[in-house]
Amino acid sequence: MQDFIHELFRTNTAELEQWVNKVSRDFRITSDAVDSSLMRDIVHDFGSTELPADPQDMRSFLSNFEKNILIHGSHLGAPTYLGHMTTPLPLFMSELGKLVNTFNQNLMKAESSRGLTFLERQVLGILHRCVFGFDDAFYARYLQDPSVLLASFTSGGTLANITALWMAANKSIGKVPGVPRWKTLVESGWSDAVVIGSELMHYSFDKGADLLGLSLIKIPVNASQQLDLDALRTVIKQCDEQKRKIVCLVGIGGTTDFGSVDPLKEICQIGHERGIHVHVDAAWGGSLLLSRTHRHILSGIEDADTVTIDAHKQLMLPIGSGMLFIRNPQDSSAIMHHAPYAVRPSSVDQGRFTIEGTRPAMALYLYAALHLIGQKGYQALLDASVQRAQLLAKKLKEDSYFELAADPVMNIVLYRVIPPCLQGKESFTDIENDRINQFNVLLQKHQRQAGKTFVSRTMRKMQRYGNKAIALLRAVLLNPLTTATDLDMLLSDQKTLADQLGR
Ligand SMILES: *Cc1c(COP(=O)(O)O)cnc(C)c1O
Repeated sequence: MQDFIHELFRTNTAELEQWVNKVSRDFRITSDAVDSSLMRDIVHDFGSTELPADPQDMRSFLSNFEKNILIHGSHLGAPTYLGHMTTPLPLFMSELGKLVNTFNQNLMKAESSRGLTFLERQVLGILHRCVFGFDDAFYARYLQDPSVLLASFTSGGTLANITALWMAANKSIGKVPGVPRWKTLVESGWSDAVVIGSELMHYSFDKGADLLGLSLIKIPVNASQQLDLDALRTVIKQCDEQKRKIVCLVGIGGTTDFGSVDPLKEICQIGHERGIHVHVDAAWGGSLLLSRTHRHILSGIEDADTVTIDAHKQLMLPIGSGMLFIRNPQDSSAIMHHAPYAVRPSSVDQGRFTIEGTRPAMALYLYAALHLIGQKGYQALLDASVQRAQLLAKKLKEDSYFELAADPVMNIVLYRVIPPCLQGKESFTDIENDRINQFNVLLQKHQRQAGKTFVSRTMRKMQRYGNKAIALLRAVLLNPLTTATDLDMLLSDQKTLADQLGR
């Protein structure tokens, strides 16, 4: 075993390296989902719970890995795979990934990541400036001030949102070590603590409210899928009357379902008039701040107290990079925790402010992206993706097989396929809509199964459909490799399926 251990850490396996390069290249150029096995068949391949005893030789391991494991991955980067918020990664990301894994730094504390702690603060500071636009003096004062936090990396938007709720709750209710939040609330005469946002809030808010012991109030959206401000004012008034403490208002900067943007300026104003923390969930849309053409879509975001942006969506970083930005550096004290053996209060350790402990150096990818892509590169990518969405919307409008549910605000397009026998009608009865719902669900399943093209599916109430839940197909137009021809392929695929299913 001595030789084995030496080999494990010291011998470079050229064979493995070559294999990884080959498989990665193949994966990138495979344009459709090659694996059409049904999920319920695949599951049988993963039934064994036997712990492998002897180390396997590399060659047979790789052969098995390629044949039986890798074929089951989703081709998220394929240009006709338009269902999810994940893109192909720029090539440099994958290469850099090797380096990041070899470095294997732990950004929880400076002792295990040295100068990278400062790099992390710097790259997040660059985006903080894109969000809030403070001046040089502000960043000279706070960027590297270890007693506060301007921004942090999280594993994703979910944890960034939960961190924001945590901060909002502690700011508003206060925190007494060892005393649960509900007790402090009740002793001060409140019945509960609430978070208010629209019904299109991402389900990470349900998780966060559950974890933190907060109530979540979801208010309706208007005809443009934006939080209804009158409804918000009414709910705030009711909360006052019922002695419910409002700890956070949530605005969405690009809903997961539609890409619609809440009236951020007004929500911030309503919150701040009453000293309520306002959080903007821009996990999806926040990256548009890097496009001078489209950043106006998010106007008002600069007034928020905290902002979530996912770098693993539109900034095209590897999965595992969410970010939370904090407007007022002093707010970070509301979530500060330390440990005598590791992250000391007076240290520069970022772990004092994060839910996660051990944390990877995602900052290295962001550093690379900001330099190798730059603002102009991102603007080109983002503008093209918005244009692609407008092109798809136009194609849908011109074709009687399709009904565009709403004009796209960003780069997400919602639509449905109309069965041949119902095409050409101005509007539909409830019974017809039920039928169209079932038709679209079935069509999307068949399309997924065939694996040539892909869009996702959602079920949402919309005012234009009399506030009834409607099954909608959802195309996310982020992939830079998607061309007009790919969009035509998607639509022709769906029309063929519609004809088959409509018979
Ligand atoms: C994707 C998304 C999230 C969740 O982010 P994860 O990275 O999946 O945890 C939260 N909010 C919105 C609006 C999103 O689009």
